[in-house]
Amino acid sequence: MLMSPVEFFRNLPKKECPECGQHIMEEQAESYLMECDRCLSKREE
Ligand SMILES: [Zn+2]
Repeated sequence: MLMSPVEFFRNLPKKECPECGQHIMEEQAESYLMECDRCLSKREE
């Protein structure tokens, strides 16, 4: 039995920002960055 693509993505674990615990957007989660946009921009200050 094959999983539909929708089911497949739903079963993927969500990535969370280690700084604030916010869920990271899927497109960002594919990158090497571990933190969400907000924490990353804070870091650059
Ligand atoms: Zn964060």
